[in-house]
Amino acid sequence: MPERGPGAPRGGHPGEPRFIVDTMLGDLARWLRLLGYDTYYSSRLDDWEILRRAEREGRIIVTMDRGLASRARRRGLRVVRIASFGAAERLAELALHVPVRLEADPSRSRCPECGGPLRPVRDKEKLRGRVPPAALEAYSVFYVCERCGRVYWEGSHWANIRRVLREAREMLARAQRGG
Ligand SMILES: [Zn+2]
Repeated sequence: MPERGPGAPRGGHPGEPRFIVDTMLGDLARWLRLLGYDTYYSSRLDDWEILRRAEREGRIIVTMDRGLASRARRRGLRVVRIASFGAAERLAELALHVPVRLEADPSRSRCPECGGPLRPVRDKEKLRGRVPPAALEAYSVFYVCERCGRVYWEGSHWANIRRVLREAREMLARAQRGG
């Protein structure tokens, strides 16, 4: 049986890059899931486990650790070493090496916390008691994580998400021009 750990859900998009993100980059892991990428992350992964999973599951390693990056390269694994800080900077740095969509599309997002697939909720009344009443009143699009059950909605934070992604696209364009 194929293992179905966090970040390896059913319903992935074939042909898309899959990632395994080291323990120092939990924020980047959440961003990749938000963008819809199959991303394995755990705060308790050791280097050996990262290498083993990357090899077995065909995942690209994303790390800040030079030592891990060079061990991965010696084994012929794909690895991107991140050196920058800040969400937009890190996304741009990753996108320089791996083609990732820096576009927000909530309908293809994964659960940022566990990587599970999100299912749209047609009848938001079913969420009464699970969502703050003000959010239930104010918003119309809700999603439930099929794995961990968390509920998400397209609220005001999406403006912030879109702003960070716009910054990342601008940084990427500058870096690609060599500036
Ligand atoms: Zn979840």
